[in-house]
Formats: sequence, C-alpha cells, structure tokens
Amino acid sequence: MTMSENSVKVDGLKFVPYLTRERIDAEVKRVASEIHRDLKGKKPLFLCVLNGAVIFAADLLREVGIDDAKINFVRYASYEGTNSTGKVKEIMGLTEDIEGMDVVIVEDIVDTGLTASMMVADLKKRKPRSLRFATLLNKPESSKTGFMPDYVAFEIPPKFIIGYGLDLDGKARNLKDIYVIAED
Ligand code: 5GP
Repeated sequence: MTMSENSVKVDGLKFVPYLTRERIDAEVKRVASEIHRDLKGKKPLFLCVLNGAVIFAADLLREVGIDDAKINFVRYASYEGTNSTGKVKEIMGLTEDIEGMDVVIVEDIVDTGLTASMMVADLKKRKPRSLRFATLLNKPESSKTGFMPDYVAFEIPPKFIIGYGLDLDGKARNLKDIYVIAED
C-alpha cells in the first residue's frame, strides 16, 4: 500500500478519499445513540463479524453507553457447496449460548445481502430474545435479497471501498478514512 496526498494505491489499484474519519465518527455516534435508545436497561450482546467489522465494533461499542453490554466475535467459513446454490457458509466461533439474549450483529458492509440474511436466519435458530443488525455501510442498489439492516451508518452506491476495517486482499484495513476505487 502506498499513500500520496490524494490517493492510495493497493495492489496496483487506485483509491481516492470518500468518507473522512470525522464523518465516520459522527455517524458511528448517531448509530450508537439509536442502539442506546432501543436497548438501554438491557444486557445486549454485540456479535462482531470478523475481520472487517472489528474497527467499527470497537468504536461503536465504546459509544453505546450501556454498562452491561458484552462483545463476542464470529467468523464465517465459506465452502464450495455440492448443491446448486454454490457457496455455503457457516458460523464459526460462537461458543456462547445466545438463547434469550438481546443480540446486535455488527457487520462492516451489506452488499447483496446474502451474507447478512444467511447470518440472521442461522442466529435466529439459536433463539435470541431479539436480533438486530448494525452495519457501517449498506449498498441498497446491490441488494439481491431485500435485506434491511436495523442500523446503518452510511448508505453508499455500489462501488468498491476500503479502509476503516474494509480490505483489499487483507490490506488497507488500517486506514483511518474510507476510500473508494478511482473511476479514471
Ligand atoms: P454480501 O453477502 O452482502 O454480498 O457481501 C458482504 C461481504 O462482501 C462483506 O462482508 C465484504 O467482505 C464484501 N464486500 C462487499 N462490498 C465490499 C466493498 O465495497 N469493499 C470491501 N472491502 N468488501 C466488500
């Protein structure tokens, strides 16, 4: 990754500034206050989806201001399925019993919505009392499922972005701002 004043290059691709850390901070605080409003007095469990949501989750959870909030981490394993639907994914790492709990999934981005809807269906089987979905970014124009997150920091057009946890081939997650792929 090489950074110059107005762009970042990752694996030969050029990205330009899109959302500054100040704007991200403001929207994370807004989402945190919405979650506070909905879950104050409860003991919510935040489920951070690794790896991409880790930066968002860290900032969000510290802003939510609910003393009894907990955080745990889940990851998805993808397999090339033997059935016609192609990719099958499954949750790894959720050792905690979530039955009867107020769960908030924390994700980096919803694109087609396939991952999100699969995750919600899977977690519902574990009988949480409530299940909400918070995402840093949502690309409604890319949706193939009609999946609607409960909390969204930014609605964005269907362009590839990096930074603030989002990667290109494992790189660029450490950028403090969000960058979009350059059109030129
Ligand atoms: P979905 O199942 O909603 O199509 O895909 C969600 C996943 O696709 C995200 O968790 C993320 O890994 C990846 N993804 C979708 N759009 C982007 C993007 O603009 N940038 C990055 N870095 N990853 C993306």
